[in-house]
Amino acid sequence: MNRWTQLVHFDPNPGDPHSPNTTPLYQTSTFAQTLGGDNQYDYTRSGNPTRTIVEQQIAKLEEGKAAFAFSSGMAALNAVIGLLHTGDHIIAGDDLYGGTHRLLTKRLAQRGLHVSFVDTTNLSAIAQALKPETRLILIETPSNPLQKISSIKALADVAHSNDALLAVDNTFLSPWIQQPLLLGADIVIHSGTKHLSGHGDVTAGVVIVNNADLIAQCAFIQNAEGSALAPFESWLLLRGLKTLGLRIEKQQRTTAQIISYLQNHSHVKKIYSPALADHPGAALHAKQAKGNGTLISFTTDNLALSKQLINKTQLFVTSVSFGSLSSLISLPGDMSHASIKSEERNFNADLVRLSIGIEDPQDLINDLEQAFYCSTI
Ligand SMILES: *Cc1c(COP(=O)(O)O)cnc(C)c1O
Repeated sequence: MNRWTQLVHFDPNPGDPHSPNTTPLYQTSTFAQTLGGDNQYDYTRSGNPTRTIVEQQIAKLEEGKAAFAFSSGMAALNAVIGLLHTGDHIIAGDDLYGGTHRLLTKRLAQRGLHVSFVDTTNLSAIAQALKPETRLILIETPSNPLQKISSIKALADVAHSNDALLAVDNTFLSPWIQQPLLLGADIVIHSGTKHLSGHGDVTAGVVIVNNADLIAQCAFIQNAEGSALAPFESWLLLRGLKTLGLRIEKQQRTTAQIISYLQNHSHVKKIYSPALADHPGAALHAKQAKGNGTLISFTTDNLALSKQLINKTQLFVTSVSFGSLSSLISLPGDMSHASIKSEERNFNADLVRLSIGIEDPQDLINDLEQAFYCSTI
């Protein structure tokens, strides 16, 4: 089945006597059990039918065997870290989501885990950072906010030859555009708060895996730590997911139009997007992904002007996050990446990030244009 069809055609109500056409919200914490019977569900922390359906839908989209929905993207990342043991070493990308950086720097040492931040676009840097105890390589590609591209296939090979796992945080692109498991990754992580739910109304996370041992471990961690996604959030996530293709295709088209506008703008100094031929990772990205995503980062070399854009745009809401229906603008240095010390950041304070929504492209361009010129900078 083509995935356009798959998004909306699935059994929405396995076993429900009333055959509702939309998955019911099983807003219950417990299920009656039969002693000695085959009780698929007994307690919602361990399993809930609404959650099962959204997990199965996301597993299909990522071509994984199983998915596990968590209360947030950070809970999903923490579950993946939970696969490791005291003394293990992690190689993580050096341009990660700020919250991931915080988890890795501030929560791992007390658990006896070690992390090295490495430019994962550079395979010789990876080779140098590898230790016998490296058990996990964790990347984002494109990375955030600089949109650096790492080779999923090459990193999977490096990880596997060192008895380590490759985990890809695929939040930026969604499985509509990139499917890391097909390229050799062992684990895919999502913040479902972004594209998967798509409406900015739910906080969620997902881990997708395709090997029996990882499936068993993730199920155990989800139940033992009590970090699973609640029924209502699962229901919202499932509802949002049905329009993933429509949203992403529309948002990507508009993103391309806005990139063209910015390319011709005298105040824009450097644009970061794998859509641009001069991006060092453009060719690699085109091989491993079907599109360029819905985010654009750019510099103005003028912090006051960048701040003016943030303050004066009207359609672009000043907000962290991305992958929502409405367009957002942010200054990562002050917002999503503020928890990373400025000397550890590899981007400048004037970097602006746009997340493109489903509005009319010309309206968005007009909004940027008036914000660029509304004062005398
Ligand atoms: C937002 C985000 C996260 C964290 O997800 P939450 O749902 O906010 O906990 C992790 N990784 C990336 C790439 C993100 O954008």
